[in-house]
This record gives sequence, C-alpha cells and structure tokens, in this order.
Amino acid sequence: MKVTKDTVPEGFSIQMALVDLLPVLFYGIANILLGYILRDSLFITGGAICTISGTIKVIWKMIVAVKRQNVWPMFLQMRIFMPLGFLLIIISIIINRGAFAGFFGNIMNYPLCLGLLIAWVIGMIAMTVCAIKLDNADVKSNWIEQSINAVAQLMLLICVIVIMTTGAMKADEVVEIQEPRQEETTTIVDDSKSEDNAKAEIVVNPVEEYNAWTTDRVNFRDNPSADGKIIAKINAREEVTVTGETDEWLQVRYGNQLGFVSREYVSTEEPQATYGQAQPLVVDRSKTTGRIVCIDAGHQRYGSSATEPNGPGSGTMKARVTGGTTGRTTGVPEYQLTLDIALKLQAELEARGYTVVMTRTTHDVDISNMERATVANNAGADITIRIHANGSENTGISGALTMAPSESNPYCAYIANESQYLSRCVIDQYCAATGMANQGVSITDTMTGINWCQMPVTIIEMGYMTNPSDDVNMQDPAYQNNMVIGIANGIDAFFAL
Ligand SMILES: [Zn+2]
Repeated sequence: MKVTKDTVPEGFSIQMALVDLLPVLFYGIANILLGYILRDSLFITGGAICTISGTIKVIWKMIVAVKRQNVWPMFLQMRIFMPLGFLLIIISIIINRGAFAGFFGNIMNYPLCLGLLIAWVIGMIAMTVCAIKLDNADVKSNWIEQSINAVAQLMLLICVIVIMTTGAMKADEVVEIQEPRQEETTTIVDDSKSEDNAKAEIVVNPVEEYNAWTTDRVNFRDNPSADGKIIAKINAREEVTVTGETDEWLQVRYGNQLGFVSREYVSTEEPQATYGQAQPLVVDRSKTTGRIVCIDAGHQRYGSSATEPNGPGSGTMKARVTGGTTGRTTGVPEYQLTLDIALKLQAELEARGYTVVMTRTTHDVDISNMERATVANNAGADITIRIHANGSENTGISGALTMAPSESNPYCAYIANESQYLSRCVIDQYCAATGMANQGVSITDTMTGINWCQMPVTIIEMGYMTNPSDDVNMQDPAYQNNMVIGIANGIDAFFAL
C-alpha cells in the first residue's frame, strides 16, 4: 500500500515513531558538531533543514499512530526538504572542496573515523535503496529502513565525537598540562572551619613579590591544588607576579586576578621571543612616499557562488568569491587571518610612507574578486597585494608561495613581468622574515583577481592552514609581526629599484 492523501498507513505505533526519532537526534547532534568543526554556514543550513524535515516526519508518524489521521503536507514535505537539505550540503562541499579535502585528509589519519565514515556512507546507500524498493507505508519496511538509518547516523555521530576528542581539529585539546598532585604533608587543618569540616586547607607562604614567566600553557587555578577550579588558562611566555608559594604551587597575580599555577611551569628567566624579530629593509624612503598600495584581504565571511567572468571579455565564469580554507588546528577561518594580516600590513605600510587602499576592512562584505581588482584599478594603485593562506589534502605540506600571471596571459600580459618581479620580492622577503619554507613564484592565468588587474599584482599564500605548525605560527602575534614586516620588506624591495 502506498501512502496517499486519503490513506492512513496501517500499524504505525508511538514506539516506532520514537525509534525513528533516534537517527534524527544522532544526525542533528553530529551536524551541530560538524558545523563547529567546519564552520561552513551552507553545510550547517543543509544539515539543519534535513534535521527539521526528519523531525516533522517523526511528528507525522506520531499523529498517524495516535489520531489515525494522515496530515498529508507533513508527509509530503520530506520529498522537498530532505533532498533540498542534501543538495545544500553537496553544494557546500563542492564550493569549499579545499576545506573539506583537508577535513577528510585529516580523517585518513584516524582509521577508526575512516571506518565509521565508510559505515555511514554504506548505511545511507542501503537506506536509499530501501526507500526506493520497499513500501514506506508498510510497518516491516519502516523498521528495516529506520534501523539502518539509526545505526548509520550513530556511526556518523561517533566518528565526529572521535575526531573532536582526539584533538585532530581543535588547538585547545592539544595543550593538556600535567600538574603535580598536592601532597597531604603540606596541609594543616584550618581552625576557622567548623569541626566536622574534614577538608584540609593548604598554607600559602607569602613571598616578596617578583616577576616570572610561564614556560608552557598552564592552568590558572583558584586553589593550590589540581582540584582547584580553573580561573583561566595562561599562555606560554606570559608574565605573572609571584606573591606566595607552597611546595608545589605558586600564588601569582595575572592581570588583576590572584590565583595559583604549578611551580613546574613558571620560570624567573625572561623568555626569548620564539621567533627572531624581523627588521625592515634599509631603503630610500623618497622612492616609496606617495606610492599607492592596494591590499586585498582574501575572502569574506560568506562566499558568493554566483559567477563572474574570469577576465575582461572572458567567457569562462568563476565563483565571485569563495569562503576560503580554515585552520585545521586553530579553527580560525582564512578570511579572518587574511584581514588580521591585511590590517597590520596597512599600519606598517602607512608608517613607511605608503598610501594604502583596502578592498575590505570587515568580514561582512560581498565583494567579488573582479570587484576587488576594480577597487585597485579605480584607486590608481601602483601595486596590489592579495593576502591569502593555502590549504592542502596533505597536512604535512608547509610553506609559502606567491602567484603572478604569465607573459601569455590573455587579459593582462602587460603586467606579467612586473607582477612576477613583485611576487619574487614579496616571497623572498616574507620567507626571510618568517623562516617559512619558500615555495617560490607560481605562474597562473586562472585567477580572476589577477586577470582584471591593471597594475603589478601578486597573491601571497602565506602558509598552509592545513599544516599544524604553519597554522599555529600564523596565529602567534610575534610571528604575525614578522609576516607583516616580511611582506612590507618585499614591497620596499620592489619599489626601491
Ligand atoms: Zn584564499
């Protein structure tokens, strides 16, 4: 029997509806967690539509079970919204295939996750076959279909949880500090507490205040004990003021708060900067003053998949602007890193006497790559620096490169030579300042943002957000400072001909 507008499926029970709720629940939670990992709005929206659509189907089954009444639109919506949700998910994967490739590349390192994911895919295929082959108003078919669905979605949920707990995706989990357990010998009974309060208090000996530095990321606790509540996490190389001590703990003031950190991770030796301080080049400033530099911070909060010509007069259409990649370890999206660096570069270049034009200064814009080039063209910029970061399926790949058009570029061959020279200057100075592996100048004629430019232009891929070390470095303020000095030095080198 097929479900139609006027028929009520036989044998549907509340229990069956509740079992049907399981896959919806599993998938809904997995989708929220995946959204947190991938930070892709289209992907989350697609997942949410699927979840809501599934929930409505469960409610429909409950109404059928209780009232023996067919609320036809509640059944019918599945045929529209479920495929729509899946379509959005597939579109988001196609648009952000770089980021997803990195995600799946990471999963390859975890055979358990890979196995679970394969089980999920097989489950989804099996369920689709059931949905097509079996009668969806039949009780037995329904049990088979929904049992497969529940198991499959549970596999997906476990897979996502394993990914998150193994620390493959988030930096926070990577840093786990060992602390010594508090020894009972250092404790005395606090008389001020009531008699029946058996809990011992630890004596903190005050000391003459002195400054010290954390040697690692460390927990800042309200009590000199590993059981003490964590007030905050203090990063490595942070300055604290020591005000008291126990055998294993130091009482320190951090910001305006008093708390405790393990002695093991505090040193009175002032730490050296992790990275050498890059220095500006010595150049003739009379040659740089009055030059206009356009800085384009790559991407924006939400990509725009509508298309535009790949170059002036081109029949090849490309997406207006994509969402970019994401830091696999830090979780920081590329559009945020690019703007952070772009704003710092703006300040550095202005301090060096350049006039700077920015294509964007916030994330919530919708400016296509062609429009970004047009901003530079209209401003009469002397050069354009397009700030990006790279991604790869291979998380082992690290380093930086710049991109420039070829001499046979159909749209902007006349800027090829100077763009290649600018790219060479920028990548060499950038890598000298940061110590990033130099992958040289890549020649490409496929970049819309280059093809529309009427002045020397370079795209710098500052490092691989899929590589843990590049990703973490690019979020370090001292390292960012070197990145900015390196790019500015490259611009100086280009102009100081
Ligand atoms: Zn990019």
